[in-house]
Amino acid sequence: MTKIQSLTLGIAGLATITGLLIWQGSLPLAIGRDLAGRHTQDDAVVGVMNKSHDRSGTPMVKVKVYNAEGELVGPIEMPKVVKTEREWRAILTPEQFAIARASGTERPFCGTLLDNKKEGVYACVCCRLPLFTSDSKFHSGTGWPSFFQPIAAENVLNKMDYSHGMQRVEILCARCDGHLGHVFNDGPRPTGLRFCVNSESLSFTDIADIKELADEAARSSSAETSNR
Ligand SMILES: [Zn+2]
Repeated sequence: MTKIQSLTLGIAGLATITGLLIWQGSLPLAIGRDLAGRHTQDDAVVGVMNKSHDRSGTPMVKVKVYNAEGELVGPIEMPKVVKTEREWRAILTPEQFAIARASGTERPFCGTLLDNKKEGVYACVCCRLPLFTSDSKFHSGTGWPSFFQPIAAENVLNKMDYSHGMQRVEILCARCDGHLGHVFNDGPRPTGLRFCVNSESLSFTDIADIKELADEAARSSSAETSNR
């Protein structure tokens, strides 16, 4: 059976949730693990969106973030990051915008993070949400940075992509919908998945500097908890 055929069979198990198609059954699910390799609570949930909204109407999402101690915490509910094209262009390079905000693809073997072997975290270049760790990076030979699982299942969304006459599954940042790349079911153990990601969609933080990824949402969440 070809990869396309097996992908087609997997389509039968997909369901539509708020306009996005999410894995439901027949394709392997990503297993979320934190940087220390521990399984996260929602192992079987990939990219499930929270449909609630905050008072301003901004959609909410539940994702995992780093706190000031450099620990991955959550999932914590927070507003999605929504900006206009003009606002994105103001904070991204033209290359980052073309790929992360306009679903582009960088040329293979050209990305700056392809051969990065340092220990650390790959976050969304748009909103700094942690997406992958060096623990799950592997050499795929495809020319793009490749990972066998996301840092937490809820941090990466899946969406069917029928562009260019192909049937693929696009992966997006769960907090800002930034385009990351695609996920394929020809990855290594233990997940069998290959998250094929553009370097331009990612920002790498060395493990020694992990506290720089501390997220405001983690602080307000722990403050709420301690006030109870
Ligand atoms: Zn993002």
